[in-house]
Amino acid sequence: MATYNIALLPGDGIGPECMAATEVVLGALAEPFPDLVLNWSAYRAGAERFRETGVALPDDVLQSCLDADAVLLSAIGLPDVRMPDGTEVQPTMMVGLRRALNVYAAVRPVKLYKGAPCALRDAGPGIDFVIIRENLEGLFASFGGGAAVDDEVATDTLIVTRRGTARVAKFAFELAQRRAGRPTDGKKMVTCVDKANVFRSFAFFRSVFFDVAREFSDVAAEAVYVDAMSLYMVTRPWDFDVVVTENQFGDILSDLGAGLVGGLGLGPSGEIGEDHGLFQPSHGTAPQIAGQGIANPMATVLSAAMMLDWLGDRHGDANCLAASRAIEDATARVLRQGQWLTPDLGGRASTMDVAKAIAAELVEARDAARNATT
Ligand code: ATP
Repeated sequence: MATYNIALLPGDGIGPECMAATEVVLGALAEPFPDLVLNWSAYRAGAERFRETGVALPDDVLQSCLDADAVLLSAIGLPDVRMPDGTEVQPTMMVGLRRALNVYAAVRPVKLYKGAPCALRDAGPGIDFVIIRENLEGLFASFGGGAAVDDEVATDTLIVTRRGTARVAKFAFELAQRRAGRPTDGKKMVTCVDKANVFRSFAFFRSVFFDVAREFSDVAAEAVYVDAMSLYMVTRPWDFDVVVTENQFGDILSDLGAGLVGGLGLGPSGEIGEDHGLFQPSHGTAPQIAGQGIANPMATVLSAAMMLDWLGDRHGDANCLAASRAIEDATARVLRQGQWLTPDLGGRASTMDVAKAIAAELVEARDAARNATT
């Protein structure tokens, strides 16, 4: 029997709706996986909390995140809630949380499920690659810093370190070892995306990447410029397996990836470090549709599946890994059947309808497995 303590941050806008739906799915694991105990506690953090108290991420909530086995966040920020300098609450809170948890690798799967609307006319042999975004350095290292001189000049500095690059590259190669390779031919490979032909910082990123690649003779390594990568992601996305890149490039390319495979409502993510894991959908708080019960919860549900995959891998817990796969499979089946889809996917179902459909699939799969063994 394994017990994991999960800190939930439902946040703002559609965040609480998507989180409530995900809690229904996690709750449905109890029957098929009685030996997996998930104790989750929800904490208030984000823009609404800032509006009320002047603090977005109170110290005690941060401590609860640090103490938890994993953190599941839904979405943070509201356009009308601003810091004294005019910026939104979300970047300050998220960069602070990432730095505190030291989660250096942001993992964004770009996977086309059957039933999801693909932006391409022809999805070839399929789309299934993962973008690993360096999460603490690059251009975002300047967040909260940078320089402004009068009203004339402003600068932000892009930071690349050997340690930061080596650890995220190693993470990418280790992930490739666990995966089945690219859809085209099953080749396991990691693609470094940079702008090494122009900038020293990216030439350095690339050279550290190839230093690390030498330790992984079972995984192929290649490098591509970011402008070319934007083209390839649209013309031949099936040729990629794992992609590793700098923070700002990863931020941009992962939204392009989400757009390819069905939109933000389907894009999960995980942010991972040595000691902590933070999981959240790649969408924001979508205030225009908040409170209507029509947000797609699948990105949050799939983020919870990624969380269980990370916990299972970290703790050598096959049961937890199986629970992760069960949630992903159940979500994929609901997508494929097409009966319970939210409006962003062309359906008419509510957020909770989708959650209940996924939960029902989890239980049905358990029954099918039981019947097969009796
Ligand atoms: P942020 O800057 O916080 O990432 P954003 O304004 O760029 O936020 P989102 O809030 O993620 O973007 O959403 C943009 C649009 O995408 C929304 O207005 C909504 O139409 C759609 N969208 C995003 N997430 C979902 C979802 N889970 N379900 C349905 N539609 C969504």
